[in-house]
Amino acid sequence: MILACWERYHHDSESETLRNDADLRLCRSLDLQGTLDLETRNTPARRDFGGMNDVRPLGVLRPAAEEDVARLLRAASRSPTLTVAARGNGHSINGQAMAERGVVVEMGAMDGRMAVGHHLAYVDVGGGVLWEDLLKFCIGFGLAPRSWTDYLGLTVGGTLSNAGVSGQAFRHGPQSSNVSELQVVTGKGDIVICSEAENSDLFLAVLGGLGQFGIITRARVLLQPAPDMVRWIRVVYTDFEAFSEDAELLVSRRITESFDYVEGFAFVNSDDPVNGWDSVGLVPGQRVDPNRIPSGAGPLLYCLEVALNYRKHDSSKTVDKAVNEMLRSLRFLPGLRFTIDVSYLDFLLRVKKDEEEAKANGIWDAPHPWLNLFVSNRDIVKFDKFVFKEILKNGIGGPMLVYPMLRDKWDLRTSVVLPEGEIIYLIALLRFNRPHPEGPHVDDLVGQNQEIIQCCMTNGLDFKVYIPHYRAEDQWRRHFGKQWTKFVERKALYDPMAILAPSQRIFTRTH
Ligand code: FAD
Repeated sequence: MILACWERYHHDSESETLRNDADLRLCRSLDLQGTLDLETRNTPARRDFGGMNDVRPLGVLRPAAEEDVARLLRAASRSPTLTVAARGNGHSINGQAMAERGVVVEMGAMDGRMAVGHHLAYVDVGGGVLWEDLLKFCIGFGLAPRSWTDYLGLTVGGTLSNAGVSGQAFRHGPQSSNVSELQVVTGKGDIVICSEAENSDLFLAVLGGLGQFGIITRARVLLQPAPDMVRWIRVVYTDFEAFSEDAELLVSRRITESFDYVEGFAFVNSDDPVNGWDSVGLVPGQRVDPNRIPSGAGPLLYCLEVALNYRKHDSSKTVDKAVNEMLRSLRFLPGLRFTIDVSYLDFLLRVKKDEEEAKANGIWDAPHPWLNLFVSNRDIVKFDKFVFKEILKNGIGGPMLVYPMLRDKWDLRTSVVLPEGEIIYLIALLRFNRPHPEGPHVDDLVGQNQEIIQCCMTNGLDFKVYIPHYRAEDQWRRHFGKQWTKFVERKALYDPMAILAPSQRIFTRTH
């Protein structure tokens, strides 16, 4: 028995070595403008923001241009085993941009040139460019993309492969609804321009496509005039139903009567310095006065966060009037309203400060077992009851975002999957804990995420995991539901040998 095991092990590791050797030879034979590093012991591509996976690739490609990506993919199709994963800024949680014994393509190495196009309506940008850099470039022209993420240290190709949402999504849809053309290198190594009008099926497949159909090497991102300033406001609720009804009212109003940004979060009704009252103020010194909280309030309170864009020549009286009108009918607690005025750039880069602080105190590099969900508004009150008020009533050591978006701003022909309902909530559990043993054990937090998913299933809530992570095909089949067949058909068309993004574990490499 032991001998049989040893022989199998010996045989397996021998074929592993042969496989590695063949793929190494293939990689070495590539004629590239960029570089392909085959010494991967210390490469950052082994890790990601989640900090829970360590996967060593065979090589790391730093492409000079899309032709390098195409050459690599064409070569990979000559190997029975080689896989390829695009890596944006490695801000995935569960190793989605990794490739075990495959090649990771560092998209940030590619030509980052940006160009504003026809009538200032769009900007062409490389897939590996950070949204932060795109913002700074566009602001120079008085312009800005329309739809954002909260944090901008993410790449254009990385967020488009998921969706990309923030408080502007109710108005403009996700980032994946705000691009008009892409350049994609398919799994077959073809460089294809695609849009609604040209190769539209590939265009739709790649948006929200989890890196499965092609690597986005360029994107045409839609622009709008950039405002100068933002009035940024937070108000507090005790009652979840009042909070969610007000949030839904705001996102459903006509453009001229609504804020430009609507988000919200749940926080703990206590003096806990991370999860409690102190997490609400917009500047140091602004804090929730506990005397203003009714004595019957529950374990959690809710903060609605809104923002109104304006021009620097708008008088503060005009802005006050508009804001007061929009807040007039809302049911937040009197006296718990926090306001600041910031430049548009500072508003969009607001998470950068948190990043700097987290880096300084060591929690940026600790594991981040995050969970993101889309929940139908039909079930959001139940979600509050079963998940927020029960499982998460003591907080998570970071923000617990909850805010509504409108389904009709999403293009459901793309690969993104949503629950039913005209209004969909984003739930983001953004855990920032100290590493164990100072903080909780990461396995317990992963366990809590599973408990939340299980709780949603047991109570029949209509939800989908956003930025999903599953290990088996039947889970993916359930995730995609009615869209699974289409997803599989598109895979067969654009990446038939399942070379791309192997760590998503949706398909198995074939030859
Ligand atoms: P990676 O993590 O490197 O890649 C993600 C996936 O996309 C992988 O499968 C990869 O293979 C694939 N991929 C990467 N680049 C390309 C490309 N050019 N072409 C094709 N496939 C590609 N998301 C939101 O929607 N809203 C938020 O507000 C938000 N805030 C965040 C804040 C922080 C601090 C972090 C860590 C994440 C946040 N996210 C948010 C999640 C973010 O959208 C994902 O992490 C996403 O994966 C983008 O990260 P990335 O660019 O580093 O891509």
